[in-house]
Amino acid sequence: MASPANAFKSLPSVDKLLHSEPLHQLVGRVGHVAVKIAAREQLEKVRNAMADGNGETLSWVKSASFLKDICSAIVIVVEAEFSSSLIPVFNLTGTVVHTNLGRARLPVEAITAMQVAASESTNLEYDLESGSRGDRDTHIEANLCRITGAEAATVVNNNAAAVLLVLNTLATDREVLISRGELVEIGGTFRIPDIMKSANCTLIEIGTTNRTHLRDYEAAITAKTALIMKVHTSNYEIRGFVNSVAESELSVLAKANKIPFISDLGSGTLIDLTKFDLPHEATVQETLRAGANIVTFSGDKLLGGPQAGIIVGDAELVRKIKRNPLKRALRIDKITLAALTEVISLYKDPHRLNSRLPLLADLTRAVAEIEELAKQLLPIMQASVKEWAEVLIKPCHSQIGSGSLPLDLLPSIAFELIPIAKKGQTDELLNNLARGFRRLPKPVIGRIHDGRLILDLRCLRDTETFQRQLANLRLS
Ligand SMILES: *Cc1c(COP(=O)(O)O)cnc(C)c1O
Repeated sequence: MASPANAFKSLPSVDKLLHSEPLHQLVGRVGHVAVKIAAREQLEKVRNAMADGNGETLSWVKSASFLKDICSAIVIVVEAEFSSSLIPVFNLTGTVVHTNLGRARLPVEAITAMQVAASESTNLEYDLESGSRGDRDTHIEANLCRITGAEAATVVNNNAAAVLLVLNTLATDREVLISRGELVEIGGTFRIPDIMKSANCTLIEIGTTNRTHLRDYEAAITAKTALIMKVHTSNYEIRGFVNSVAESELSVLAKANKIPFISDLGSGTLIDLTKFDLPHEATVQETLRAGANIVTFSGDKLLGGPQAGIIVGDAELVRKIKRNPLKRALRIDKITLAALTEVISLYKDPHRLNSRLPLLADLTRAVAEIEELAKQLLPIMQASVKEWAEVLIKPCHSQIGSGSLPLDLLPSIAFELIPIAKKGQTDELLNNLARGFRRLPKPVIGRIHDGRLILDLRCLRDTETFQRQLANLRLS
């Protein structure tokens, strides 16, 4: 029987561990600091267990495999520490533009441009002609104006920032008129009344939740009114006894009262989606033509680009917006700008857009193609879950997501996994199954509906990885 005192002495030193074969390689990869800390911690644990008189630990320390075992433990700790927690996943939720899963995937042109902007010095804010300081908006403004028909444009970190910046520039300490039906909350943290407060504006609610008339706006205009604002109700729709005022009417009213009319489109697209057999979504061009003086929209929703907020509209107003000191705090970074510039460029050739923009390719993917994919994957899917679930190929509906077109659904095809469980244990098995898919090396994210796990195949592209890892599916 090994005595603790002897066993303490027989423990290897940190140095010995670091120079041992299994850790030597790890040190080469991540440097000695992290490995040393982990080795010290593991030895400390062993020492504490020994001091507590843990018999198992004592015999483990004396065993032939101890050095190998403790090195393995150290490798696991260090590798976990160095592995990124931000990893790719399969979005089989059926929501194409999924905010929690990173919204739009970018086209290769954008990715290449990001790589260049990241690895090289660029003329980001440098005028090559004059050799003096330039403006980062110049790289994108002309194209945004050409495509949208706006006089001027600027870009910031995201659309929430765009709305904040516009309000803070044009309506600080003054009043902004918005219909009660448009006081939206998007994803919990973006709420129009809160943004108004942050921007130092006073929100004046117009009309009622379901009905707002032009005369309601007229009656609310005073000397303190700075703006009339329309907010696209991206993530819900009010139906039934409803009335809202058209943008064209609001812009006439605003003009007559010499105040700007601004529209937060949220999703905003630069093409008529009906051309691709998708539901109609208000375009930036239509909104400008209806008389909006400023339009704000996201770069990573229906536009299919990187996270960004785009502001287009009247030159005079955009000039003021650019001069706001907040602009500096909200500015777009060079890598995003490089990506966004490429994505905007793709819109100059709208006919090929659905083959070049991953978002549009996913949204317009033919049901027949998705069904073909489902048939091809069915046997391997059935084999990998056969102990726990039955698998069916079922028609389903994908949604565009991110607040775009909430009620319009796209026909798609899904695997429906029906748990094989005794009565009363179905939910637990279902949750276990969903967790099992989330624990795969490239996690598969589906959705649970009506006692089934639904995996919508519309956005499944990397089928090879998908199939290969299914053999690793384990339930806890
Ligand atoms: C999504 C959305 C926003 C916020 O845009 P982000 O790009 O997420 O910052 C603002 N307004 C509306 C109407 C939206 O739909």
